[in-house]
Amino acid sequence: MSTTKEQTSLEAQNNGKGTPESPIKTDALIIGAGPCGLFTVFEMGLLDMKCHLLDILDRPGGQCAELYPEKPIYDIPAYPEISGQELTDRLMEQIEPFSPVFHFQQMAEKLEQIDEQTWRITTDIGTVFDAKVIIIAAGGGSFMPKKPPIPGIDEYENKSVFYAVRKMEQFKDKKILVVGGGDSALDWTLNLLPLSESMTLLHRRDSFRAHLDSVHKMQAKVEAGEMDFQMGQVKQLKGENGQLTSVVIQHKDKTTTEIECDILLPFFGLTMKLGPIADFGLNLHENLIPVDTEKFETSTPRIFAVGDINSYPGKLKLILSGFHEAALMSRQAFRYIHPNSKLKFEYTTSSSSLQEKLDV
Ligand SMILES: Cc1cc2nc3c(=O)[nH]c(=O)nc-3n(C[C@H](O)[C@H](O)[C@H](O)COP(=O)(O)OP(=O)(O)OC[C@H]3O[C@@H](n4cnc5c(N)ncnc54)[C@H](O)[C@@H]3O)c2cc1C
Repeated sequence: MSTTKEQTSLEAQNNGKGTPESPIKTDALIIGAGPCGLFTVFEMGLLDMKCHLLDILDRPGGQCAELYPEKPIYDIPAYPEISGQELTDRLMEQIEPFSPVFHFQQMAEKLEQIDEQTWRITTDIGTVFDAKVIIIAAGGGSFMPKKPPIPGIDEYENKSVFYAVRKMEQFKDKKILVVGGGDSALDWTLNLLPLSESMTLLHRRDSFRAHLDSVHKMQAKVEAGEMDFQMGQVKQLKGENGQLTSVVIQHKDKTTTEIECDILLPFFGLTMKLGPIADFGLNLHENLIPVDTEKFETSTPRIFAVGDINSYPGKLKLILSGFHEAALMSRQAFRYIHPNSKLKFEYTTSSSSLQEKLDV
């Protein structure tokens, strides 16, 4: 299911709708098309509920697709190893039978109650949705990379300075300087090393926040002479028309070194901003949305929260936690959306009605 296809079907389905006079009506509106929002479509679909999804990004997958599309994840049940992008693609394939409708590059901005059965969401570009339930799957909210305070860095951004690795191929045969001491810095150093012309990791000190295993791997590569490690901070960028040629590094003793480099990858962490969701009038605790662990409903009826955005005792911000939460919240959503129908518990392996919905 490609983004283009979704957008085309979206345009066709909306056909001028989405205004306050003619809102897009749906059983459920999911805010956030990250892995937990995507799997929610599946669980809702098994119980005959249709979903629209909203995301500020231009594609599905949330953090998996935006922050680590090519990095392997090792704790998705039944997948000993799967990359962030492949997990997203598999989820998209799994929800295809339920024909979710995606609305990308739009931010959920305003929440209003229309009547006892209807909540309205308006986006920053003015699209209006009336839904019987709202599912907030907004992860950490809108995330932005923290920028290093280097003079003139803006000129190089997205030309030779990148805050995320979308396509590893883009960095083939390049002289790469990775800056940072966390997991992203260490992981990308190791992942890009085999295809780089040269690789240097720069960090302020020789202790790291990253997993010890990655630190040991990096140190072994340095000892083997396959890459370089420097302590210090970037002081100056040199180049022309956004293309770096070298970088000046200042060390602790204030001495400087200039190293040749055509790609700079600073990994200084992310700032996650909850954004407009903070003004929805929902109960919040430390920028997270408290939910109960039976239905994953907020303190406001018909408004649910799944995935990284919610909080409850013992919460683990893992993808698999969000999958479980989606299954349970869908049952409460069913009670609201199909109040006169009996809620059954069925297995996909043995229920012919579920198999019919899945078209298998
Ligand atoms: C480097 C890294 C490695 C990780 N490795 C693992 C791992 O190995 N295993 C694991 O289980 N987890 C891992 N995680 C965590 C995992 O990615 C998250 O738990 C997961 O992405 C949460 O999914 P989500 O759907 O709740 O939110 P997200 O993936 O954050 O998606 C939320 C989406 O909501 C959108 N959004 C937010 N606010 C709005 C708004 N107002 N309007 C419209 N859209 C909005 C965002 O744009 C985003 O696309 C890792 C995370 C990182 C950063």
